[in-house]
Amino acid sequence: MEQFYTEADIQEYVLQQKEKGYSVGFVPTLGALHEGHMSLMKRASKECDIFICSIFVNPTQFDDASDLEKYPRTLEKDIQLLEANNCDACFTPAVDEVYPSGLNLDKEYDLGRLEHILEGKTRPGHYQGVCQVVHRLLEMVQPDLLFLGQKDFQQVKVLSKMIDMEDLPVGVIMCDIIREEDGLAMSSRNVRLTEEERKVANQLYKTLLACKKNSHKITLQKLRNWGIENLNLEELITVDYLKFCNASDLIEIDSWDQAEHIILLGAINLGKIRLIDNMIIC
Ligand code: AMP
Repeated sequence: MEQFYTEADIQEYVLQQKEKGYSVGFVPTLGALHEGHMSLMKRASKECDIFICSIFVNPTQFDDASDLEKYPRTLEKDIQLLEANNCDACFTPAVDEVYPSGLNLDKEYDLGRLEHILEGKTRPGHYQGVCQVVHRLLEMVQPDLLFLGQKDFQQVKVLSKMIDMEDLPVGVIMCDIIREEDGLAMSSRNVRLTEEERKVANQLYKTLLACKKNSHKITLQKLRNWGIENLNLEELITVDYLKFCNASDLIEIDSWDQAEHIILLGAINLGKIRLIDNMIIC
């Protein structure tokens, strides 16, 4: 595996690959890699001739300074995992390589309602930061396909919108959520859960699953209320939101006939850790 740190070097590498006629996949990450990230890479290696993974803990997408500070950083182990998963190139730029003129947003993306609902409501500025970094990484790497996880469903919607608005020549592939054996969606943040928190962390998944099984059997509002009450039964859990939304625009719905494709999204706090998950209902 090749490793690159600068825009000039990664661009030269990608250009060489494209000159050979190779298609280039790209998997951007914050590092602390786990099986969820690996599944994106497996998909990228299926769909593209070569793939590149970036590891960059982007300061502009963290709305909470202590979350940024405590975000797990395991670069050495990550590099070994990338090697073991046949990654062709790893891109680990420094902050000033990504943001040569500083961290301030010089551009505001017009994301509309998508920016201020669900995750965006609790984490102001988060999606502007996500767009800023992915736009910049795409400019540096210039891949053909971008691989993103359904785990961050709203992020997939936001980035697809940014890519459309900016008319960037890259396709987006959304990959399935990878879970632990007990259903908990894999996340780099899971390692920060205490033993007790970890034991109950799969309640979010269990609630999503129970809601899916009972969808269309009782009213949507009753099912949603049941879901919130069920999560609240666990005293370590504080519910941020549990919402049924139209899967195409993420607008919340309150009856089953309001959307053809429905997704249920949830976010909970377990101690200091925030967990998100979602499930496509139909
Ligand atoms: P992150 O490092 O958390 O920014 O995640 C990098 C990419 O991996 C994003 O596209 C995530 O949606 C995706 N991802 C994170 N966790 C999972 C998971 N459990 N299953 C599938 N994809 C995931």
